[in-house]
Amino acid sequence: MAANPAKPIIEVLKQIVSKPYTMEYPENRESLTDNYRGVEKLDMKTCISCSACARICPNSTITMVDVDTDKGAKVMPEINIERCLFCGLCEEVCPPKCLVLTKSYDFERYDRREFVKRPEELD
Ligand code: SF4
Ligand code: SF4
Repeated sequence: MAANPAKPIIEVLKQIVSKPYTMEYPENRESLTDNYRGVEKLDMKTCISCSACARICPNSTITMVDVDTDKGAKVMPEINIERCLFCGLCEEVCPPKCLVLTKSYDFERYDRREFVKRPEELD
């Protein structure tokens, strides 16, 4: 059977009048599922510097770094979000539950160095 020569034109016209497939980000956003895992948040006040998060991380995303606090120098997690798999293991093993994955997915950056978040930036 011969191909209909008008078919491509009909397809183009259909696309012109159809609703766009993309959303206007950031004005409009997809709703997230309950188990969505996004950028980490750290409560520096309750972190006990145990390093369990850094040890469990499967992609070497967490580095323990020195931080000055009211109670003196401590080590706390610095996270390279670019390397994060959002597996949630760091949240799972954290004894005081001070490191959690949030619903935030806004972490686009122009400079790759900005993916590395010091504890103060995660707090
Ligand atoms: S979510 Fe997974 S990959 Fe990301 S920092 Fe935690 S343990 Fe590492
Ligand atoms: S964030 Fe949690 S697991 Fe990581 S060092 Fe602090 S207390 Fe330990």
